[in-house]
Amino acid sequence: SAATGTADINPSKLKVEKTTQPKGLLKPEELVFGRNFTDHMLTIEWTKENGWNAPEIKPYQNLSLDPATCVFHYAFECFEGMKAYKDKAGKIRLFRPDKNMARFNKSAARIALPTFDSPALIDLIAKLVKLDSRFIPEQRGYSLYLRPTMIGTQKTLGVGPPGSALLYVIASPVGPYYPTGFKAVSLEATDYAVRAWPGGVGDKKLGANYAPCIVPQVEAMSRGFQQNLWLFGEEEYVTEVGTMNFFVAIKDKKTGQKTLVTAPLDGTILEGVTRDSVLALAREKLAPEGWKIEERKFTMKELAEAANEGRLIEAFGAGTAAIVSPVRSISWKGQLVNCGLKPEEESGELTMQVKNWMEARQYGDEEHEWSYVC
Ligand code: PMP
Repeated sequence: SAATGTADINPSKLKVEKTTQPKGLLKPEELVFGRNFTDHMLTIEWTKENGWNAPEIKPYQNLSLDPATCVFHYAFECFEGMKAYKDKAGKIRLFRPDKNMARFNKSAARIALPTFDSPALIDLIAKLVKLDSRFIPEQRGYSLYLRPTMIGTQKTLGVGPPGSALLYVIASPVGPYYPTGFKAVSLEATDYAVRAWPGGVGDKKLGANYAPCIVPQVEAMSRGFQQNLWLFGEEEYVTEVGTMNFFVAIKDKKTGQKTLVTAPLDGTILEGVTRDSVLALAREKLAPEGWKIEERKFTMKELAEAANEGRLIEAFGAGTAAIVSPVRSISWKGQLVNCGLKPEEESGELTMQVKNWMEARQYGDEEHEWSYVC
């Protein structure tokens, strides 16, 4: 990182101020993604002179920032998205938080914000989550969405590395993405707008990557498609879908070999924690059944050809919010590419299996090193 400080994040210096006005709890079915937040937040200030200050957990509250603060002008902002789950015994579990922290550090470093010791922040997030654990519904499918955020707070319009920063974590109780069971989505293959490019920052979780994707999303929705399928280059490589990584199961033209394919980490996709987990699960559970698992470039033309020849088995998006999201069809160059579902189906077998494998580890039904008990 261009920014270096002296002191690292130190959980033993944590100061806790508990709220005197605990919030009421919504009924689980009333929860809307990212709309309601818990009683407390974690904040840690950083300055170039002193490094990371003492962490604080305090009542959820507004930030007060000078209008010249660099985050508002030059987009010094990066964030993470992860979840805490309540297991059958009432214990709170994070899912692969080390992966989110590694990505958070990479994002911060790319925009000259300070990096930090990952285990220290995980420890503090665990403390926040335990303090606010009453907000996490017990039912399957529910969780606490966590939003670690870092912003540059230097108060000057000069363009340069921020001399101060704020890291904060807020938490929002969320319900199942598909409350009434899976709902397959239809995608619009997007070629007129580009989400990410080689040498760019599309593989980092920067706020600046998200705002420019909204107009194409609104346009796709106006034509009846729920998400964009982001293509890249003249070859029309398939990269990712909306804010999820994209997986497709196809049969080989000649051999009929079943293959699970996803785009490689070449800088044009976000390194999804779900993507990594799906790949690991597939290598563990599908490969022994004869499946091939591939991280490689593939084009929209290849997908359309597989679909037309009846070799496209199923397709799904993968991300923290929905875990997996079945794909029904992709609109591309005036044709509707069918992704293997029958009209009455909302999910393929494989997509359903992947969801179950993931949830078993997220909710701690299966004891696994991916699950971090708070
Ligand atoms: N791609 C993008 C652009 C995203 O915003 C996300 C959500 N973080 C993902 C993929 C999926 O990543 P993860 O599995 O870590 O949630």
